[in-house]
Amino acid sequence: MKYSELADVYEKLENTSARLKKTDIIAELLKKTPTHELEKLVLLLSGRIFPIWSEEETGVANQIMIQAIAKSSGIDGSAVNKAYKKIGDLGKVAEEFCESKKQKTLFKKTLDIDKVYENMLKIASQGGKGSQDRKISLIVELLSQSNSKEAKYIVRIVLEELRIGVAEGVIRDSIAKAFGVNKKIVEDAWFLRPDYGIIAEIAKEKGERGLKMLEVEIGVPIKVQLAERSPNLKTALESFENPTLECKYDGMRTIIEKDDDKIWIFTRRMENVSSAFPDLVELCKKYIKAKRCIIDGETIAIDPKNGRPLPFQKLSERIKRKYNIHETIKEIPIQINLFDIIYLDEKKLFDLPLYERREILKNNIKIFPDKFQIVKSLTTNNLKLAENFYKEALQNGHEGLIVKNLEAKYVSDRRVAGGWLKVKPIMETLDLVITGATWGAGKRTGWFGSFMLSCRNPKTGEFLECGMLGTGIKEKKSNENDITFDYMTKLLKPYIEHEQGNQIKIKPKIVIEVAYEEIQKSPTYKSKYALRFPRFIRLRHTERSAEEADTINRVEHLYRNQKGKK
Ligand code: AMP
Repeated sequence: MKYSELADVYEKLENTSARLKKTDIIAELLKKTPTHELEKLVLLLSGRIFPIWSEEETGVANQIMIQAIAKSSGIDGSAVNKAYKKIGDLGKVAEEFCESKKQKTLFKKTLDIDKVYENMLKIASQGGKGSQDRKISLIVELLSQSNSKEAKYIVRIVLEELRIGVAEGVIRDSIAKAFGVNKKIVEDAWFLRPDYGIIAEIAKEKGERGLKMLEVEIGVPIKVQLAERSPNLKTALESFENPTLECKYDGMRTIIEKDDDKIWIFTRRMENVSSAFPDLVELCKKYIKAKRCIIDGETIAIDPKNGRPLPFQKLSERIKRKYNIHETIKEIPIQINLFDIIYLDEKKLFDLPLYERREILKNNIKIFPDKFQIVKSLTTNNLKLAENFYKEALQNGHEGLIVKNLEAKYVSDRRVAGGWLKVKPIMETLDLVITGATWGAGKRTGWFGSFMLSCRNPKTGEFLECGMLGTGIKEKKSNENDITFDYMTKLLKPYIEHEQGNQIKIKPKIVIEVAYEEIQKSPTYKSKYALRFPRFIRLRHTERSAEEADTINRVEHLYRNQKGKK
């Protein structure tokens, strides 16, 4: 397929905000795409080069792109930089500059999606000395063969910010529409194999039957089950005829996949963290009896002095660590608490009731106390006993409880009725995305001094501003869990999209947990709500992607509930 066809589609998608229209446009394109091109095409439509769970990325910063645009258009880098400062979108900058050089290129070849994709893969695979220059050459090669429209989208894809408003749900619906298959079946397939490229191929070739028969692939993460908040323990307990209470550990959701002597560790966001946790990999090799399986659990950091759980922040240091991993194993030892098994020796176990899965889990692991164990649980209907168990969990430094239905199936992703209910003592906080910042003044000079918070519109994928936060982040560290302005500035700098005066626009990547005093209606913010006195609680970006941040619906819901109480 010619790349220009895809660029036309990108343009159409960018110019419509109607979800149904977007679905129609993509479905039409999918229908006419030959099977062997579907995988690449679907990835490129979602602005990706690798599936969602892949560790790989293009690794091209704005400054590199500015150089590439300058080189391919023959225009001075400072002029490109200036245009970028004005427009705030390097895609549009490339569109403008490639237009002016268009006549000059006499022997322009026609780009096809294979070539574009191939170069993108090469860009991602460059590493070590001279890699920046090689990345620039690969981008220049594409840009010099493209017209202005093609250039705009090439730049955006390389920068991993396509901005055409195609959320995962739109791709799902388009596949369903193009190949006449049920949406729910497409989504269920994605939970097992989160790669719409492969799913589109199967939908086209084998239809619903093929999708239903899709197997789990060990080494590729699955979408895990999530928990719903419950207002209190009593309500949670009364929700099920046959409830069981599990301790809620405050750590990292851990999906262990095992195939003989190979172990993969994935997080809830489908990130592969196996190399950051060699100690956990060893524990799995030693203490899992099954040959091939997928086991679900929560890893926490343990204080080596007293064996008590350490706050999540500590564990996140290990998740991020790329070097000297073996040192941190001693500094921040871990413990894993297992609570489910969803695949065993070629069999999916999702549809078995929890009490059976628990038995299977017990039979397939060996326990190493305080290191590799099954979650602490209590099966009871009795509120008094449940309350004691809850208190004990909190006293032991855990977050609360998860109440589960012993009869229930394992349901990927959904916060379903009859699913897991979490009970925590703190007030309801929000997980919001940072989408902007302002440069600080006075003591905060040189750092970002306040941060724009946004919630998510689940229908459009857009991020809607709902407050400005400066409280809870520290100027100096006085406690080892403190997060400083300096730290936040360094964390956010790679995601700067645009700067004007002291206002900075930031790509929606970093999710933080925020407490607040009240939610108010607001005419100024896009969400139409404003948080009063928002306060930073903790970083959440290693657990939640921007696409998993709290939605405008939840903000609305909390707003209404607080009114109700008054
Ligand atoms: P939250 O992140 O607040 O939505 O709470 C749900 C998370 O709690 C899950 O995704 C797990 O990472 C974690 N968790 C801790 N203990 C358990 C447990 N016993 N069962 C299920 N999830 C647990």
